[in-house]
Amino acid sequence: MEALLDKLYERNELDKEEIVYFLQHLTTELKTRLFDLAVKTRKRHYAESVYVRGLIEFSSFCIQDCLYCGLRRSNASAERYRLTEEEILECAEAGYSLGYRSFVLQSGEDFYFTEARLVRLVKRLKLRFPEEAITLSIGERSEAFYRALFDAGTDRYLLRHETASRSLYQSLHPGMSFDNRVNCLRTLKDIGYQVGAGFMVGLPGQTCEHLAEDLLFLKELQPEMIGIGPFIPHSATPLKDARGGTVEDTLVMIAMARLFIPEALMPATTAMGTLDPAGRELALGAGCNVMMPILSPLSVRRKYALYENKICMGDEAAICRSCIEMRIAAAGYRIELGRGDHCSFTGTGKLKQ
Ligand code: SF4
Repeated sequence: MEALLDKLYERNELDKEEIVYFLQHLTTELKTRLFDLAVKTRKRHYAESVYVRGLIEFSSFCIQDCLYCGLRRSNASAERYRLTEEEILECAEAGYSLGYRSFVLQSGEDFYFTEARLVRLVKRLKLRFPEEAITLSIGERSEAFYRALFDAGTDRYLLRHETASRSLYQSLHPGMSFDNRVNCLRTLKDIGYQVGAGFMVGLPGQTCEHLAEDLLFLKELQPEMIGIGPFIPHSATPLKDARGGTVEDTLVMIAMARLFIPEALMPATTAMGTLDPAGRELALGAGCNVMMPILSPLSVRRKYALYENKICMGDEAAICRSCIEMRIAAAGYRIELGRGDHCSFTGTGKLKQ
């Protein structure tokens, strides 16, 4: 086991059998060492910095029906909202005045937001914030759509793969295609976006083999950003009675992902903070280096419920800002308010080859 961890740390690789064996035989002592090596690796590339992105959840409409998600179209009890272009700009303005220089615009798959509407929005944001980073996280669209949004000035795109197991993916995403998901991610990379992928831990039916496939998929894709969070069951979904993921298991996967893809930007997710008040700090201690405070208006925050009991629902953006800064400092890191690009990003719109 020690030898496997040494190999992962030194060579950033393990094969599938090795990952499965490692996950099945992990001891408390080895976990501590895994987290230490993950933090050491993260510090080598990003020192003590924790990057901050202001998150604007601008629409809770979604045409998809993912079994685990509170925003799924079949959830008639979900309250739906869309922010107007002006409201989105106001959120970004509020974030800018708090020092944020990186904004993430996230929504369900809402086709009200057409290519034309989003191009217009991104152009307006870029006109107002020319030096700042704009990230979209709005699901699966066509190659032409992705290109148009990139040309309009979008810097990054988040599209979690959710699970790299084709069978598990198909069982959780009725009407969606695993191949299309993967093709979208590859297309986004080809276009030149900084791309975020990622997965959930603790999905019903998920095994160590599936988690090994997730790590190997990330290794092959080489995303610039990786989001890993626990699955949290939502009471208005078909998976309401499932057990859900744990903070402990998620920390292990975060640390392993850090060792597989050392240069990735990895958020300490709100889902971690929801399961454990110290979940985000623990994630920083397992290799994460990004936090995403919410900038959405207080009036809509509770409606963006992919899962329930989400934290930070009632805090003004300014309070979130100081809370997050305090948490980062308490964990021994330093808040970094720049764009927070991937360390190999040249700033010319293309990654170094
Ligand atoms: S996970 Fe995303 S695509 Fe799936 S239902 Fe929820 S918001 Fe829609």
